[in-house]
Amino acid sequence: MKEARFYAATGDGVQCLLCPHRCRIKEGGRGLCRSRECRDGKLYALSYGRPCALAVDPVEKKPLNHLMPGTHCLSLSCTGCNLSCRWCQNSDISQVKPEETDSAEWSPEEIVDAAMRRSLPSIAYTYTEPFTWWEYMHDIAVLAHERGLKNILVSAGYVEKEPLQELLPYLDAANIDIKAMDDAICRKYCGASLAPVLENILAMHSAGVHVEITNLLVTGVNDSDEQVGALCKWMAGNGLQDVPLHFSRFFPRYRFTDVAPTPKPTLLKARDHAHSLGIKTIHLGNI
Ligand code: SF4
Ligand code: SF4
Repeated sequence: MKEARFYAATGDGVQCLLCPHRCRIKEGGRGLCRSRECRDGKLYALSYGRPCALAVDPVEKKPLNHLMPGTHCLSLSCTGCNLSCRWCQNSDISQVKPEETDSAEWSPEEIVDAAMRRSLPSIAYTYTEPFTWWEYMHDIAVLAHERGLKNILVSAGYVEKEPLQELLPYLDAANIDIKAMDDAICRKYCGASLAPVLENILAMHSAGVHVEITNLLVTGVNDSDEQVGALCKWMAGNGLQDVPLHFSRFFPRYRFTDVAPTPKPTLLKARDHAHSLGIKTIHLGNI
């Protein structure tokens, strides 16, 4: 574990300043993401240096279709997420405590060495929510840049401005998952608000990070014409019409096992709708 970078002391514990939840954590307690704990008046990132998943993936699997296509990336994850999507595909590592997963010790140097040894051109921070293990991601990303590797973030984008700004110089690409274009849906099904995510996408794009956007179309939740239209209009209205958009097919998982997979016609209709609203590059995933 490592002392957290963004927090403030309170009278009886700490307040984490990493994400908009801004958890107030009493001595011995943890934040919503389960991976940050207050000990002796300090906040600690518990999963620092202990990835629970490490793999080599095609970059298209992130999904990123327009950054070094045809290459592979070293993909890693630590336990934890600050969202709680009811359909999470990785709930076994995102919705548990670090001590409830298998993990192994890997220093940032060892991660970068592993990528170099395999001649992989990039490292992807993925599978759970990388911002909840910000310190580890940051330290790896700094080293990776020193050694000529690219850094890829796969995230739901729910983070405060300062931690994002501090990471931006080391970020080359990001795929950000917009859960829905409706704040009430985001809060009800994922436990987070929408506005910070949209602001962070614009900040990354303005900073020159290669951004792609994913929208998982969950049956009966966010797959309406209205929702798809709102997303595309927001993109076009904010100069993101060239940003690749991935509509992904939902399959029943976690707490959404009684909901049908997204019908293929829904995805095809979303693609046509997005094209008609000016989005230039659209991919369909899981189909
Ligand atoms: S990163 Fe975790 S502990 Fe910090 S505010 Fe967000 S959910 Fe709470
Ligand atoms: S943001 Fe991703 S990892 Fe976190 S709960 Fe949602 S789907 Fe799972």
